[in-house]
Amino acid sequence: MEVRQIVNSLFRSCSYVIVHDGASWLVDCGDVDKILPAIVGPLKGVLLTHAHFDHIYGLNQLAELIPSLPVFTNEPGLEALLNDKLNLSKYNGDPFVLIDTTNVHLVENGECVDLFDGIKAEAVFTPGHNPSCVTWMIDDIILTGDSFIPGVKTVTNLPLSDKALAAKSEVLIRELAAHRTVYAGHAPEV
Ligand SMILES: [Zn+2]
Repeated sequence: MEVRQIVNSLFRSCSYVIVHDGASWLVDCGDVDKILPAIVGPLKGVLLTHAHFDHIYGLNQLAELIPSLPVFTNEPGLEALLNDKLNLSKYNGDPFVLIDTTNVHLVENGECVDLFDGIKAEAVFTPGHNPSCVTWMIDDIILTGDSFIPGVKTVTNLPLSDKALAAKSEVLIRELAAHRTVYAGHAPEV
């Protein structure tokens, strides 16, 4: 399994292409033109770490290119995909809502998504930064989105953020991170 990081133009949010056995999965969707060249073989689906606009803004463009591409998030994630106030895009001058939700699949805490033959992604809910936050655990890696960015204080001053929950989630993520590689939701400024 190979993890390819794409640093998006908006706030240096990160998308990740996970490649294995001649196929790919995407985690979060920013700049589609940067993501496409990183994909190997068929793109099987998209996992969302949360539904803030800087992690989802490429989804409509991607759905146009790859119809019926499944997108995995939780219930608060779906709500934010459909609401430009909840995903905060409205306040950034470029309102975004997901046009077609027929391919959105809702996951529960602890649920697994089959990625490749013998490789699953487990959804670990890590609310606090936002109620839609999911940390995806895949073998010996975790994709934490904005729930945990090593060396950076978790942002909890946004609407729907919850500082106490974020602290609880961070404890859990640090446990998961002890034996795993962390791929976070933003890249440091260079
Ligand atoms: Zn965020």
